[in-house]
Amino acid sequence: MANIIGKGGNKPQKASEQSTQQPKLDLGKSTPIVCAHCGYDVFIDGSKFRKLSKLITGTPQDVIVPIEVMMCGNCGEICEGAFSDCIGLTNLPTLTGVNTIGKFAFSGTGLTSASIPDNVITFDMNVFSGCESLTNIEISEDNDTFSFD
Ligand SMILES: [Zn+2]
Repeated sequence: MANIIGKGGNKPQKASEQSTQQPKLDLGKSTPIVCAHCGYDVFIDGSKFRKLSKLITGTPQDVIVPIEVMMCGNCGEICEGAFSDCIGLTNLPTLTGVNTIGKFAFSGTGLTSASIPDNVITFDMNVFSGCESLTNIEISEDNDTFSFD
């Protein structure tokens, strides 16, 4: 498992600070990611919700957990693993405007290090699963809202 450098934090995010921007990636040497179902290349934000039983969480009520996903803008197919198993990916795309990194987004890639900028608020621990070359995850000093799901 990679070392995690930086503090991160667990402050709840304010609704007013949430952004609906699409990820802005460095397109210099990129190839388009298209829907595996229909080939369309525009994705929209969506949310899935999971219910955790109070018997598991120990809380007075069941807990609803929202999970942000990217959906194909054409057919609605959910693309949870858009970057999965792209071994050639050794540099993290520019994450300008990204608040949440989706589940398994970079799993199985050849990333050697990852830097989490100020704007990324949360990601799932599975984001970097299977990244065997990844040794360091650096979290921006100024990022005090970051947390793991
Ligand atoms: Zn599609």
